Amino acid sequence: MERLTADDLNTALRMMDQKKKKWTKQHPGEKMPECPKCQNVGLYRRSFDENGTELFGDDMNKAGSYDYFYPCDCVSIKDNQKLKNHRKFASVPQLYADADFSNFQIKIYQNVPSLERATVALRDSKAFVQNFEKFDEKGLGLYIYSDARGSGKTRLASSIANELMKKDVRVRYESANKILSEIQKAWTDSGVSENAILKNYIEPRVLIIDDFGARSGKDWMDEKFLMIIDARYQSNKVTIFTSNYDVERLPFHDMRIIDRLSDVNRFHTLRMPDESVRQRSRIRNGGTELFYELAKKG
Ligand SMILES: [Zn+2]
Repeated sequence: MERLTADDLNTALRMMDQKKKKWTKQHPGEKMPECPKCQNVGLYRRSFDENGTELFGDDMNKAGSYDYFYPCDCVSIKDNQKLKNHRKFASVPQLYADADFSNFQIKIYQNVPSLERATVALRDSKAFVQNFEKFDEKGLGLYIYSDARGSGKTRLASSIANELMKKDVRVRYESANKILSEIQKAWTDSGVSENAILKNYIEPRVLIIDDFGARSGKDWMDEKFLMIIDARYQSNKVTIFTSNYDVERLPFHDMRIIDRLSDVNRFHTLRMPDESVRQRSRIRNGGTELFYELAKKG
């Protein structure tokens, strides 16, 4: 039996709570059938004597026995646990931890071309996730681009990541900046090899590189990015980029980077609006409202 943390037990209790609420909503006025194993607690008990022998029936209540609790199968926390592991591995930016297609707000864009672009980008992103198996097989990724900062690219890429994880796809999310600084760190830190760092980005089934092109200008940067891109390209792995540069204008000297990313059989471009909505979405999220609310009370 695997060891469980207090967190796992709390998850089981919480999931049982959700299950009860959902059941009551669907069957108003009825009593939910009782699980014979956990009596609808979400956890069941196992008892052992001091020698570690499991006790059953009345023996379970013997003095000196040890009780352990386990999440019940009827609230399988396994899926939840899996998703938690995916999320931890992916490391999507905290700000967008809950971003998904359902809360991606199109109406936040104010001018018509922006609205149209965002609508198409969201539609294509949904189609991408829905048919991911096919894109995965061909190794066809996405290039999410707009000239403006704060136009929703990172939010969209995070939403795609979160939706893919719900489908049990392993995703790794990293900013281009962080990838470069991790590699640099490996040069001075004897504890990690550069190869190990590169492997972190080459191996995941899906890699999302955020803000590609934000840092460039040194040959080694071109070289390392090309290594990651090529390795993934050759093994048909899906890579998703967000960038403020049209592929043609990416500030890299090594044309092979541009070459790979221009391959329409491997990258589909999602053109995002050239309109910054970061400020507006913050207001919608209540940040500024909260400030004034607190300011009033003072
Ligand atoms: Zn149960």
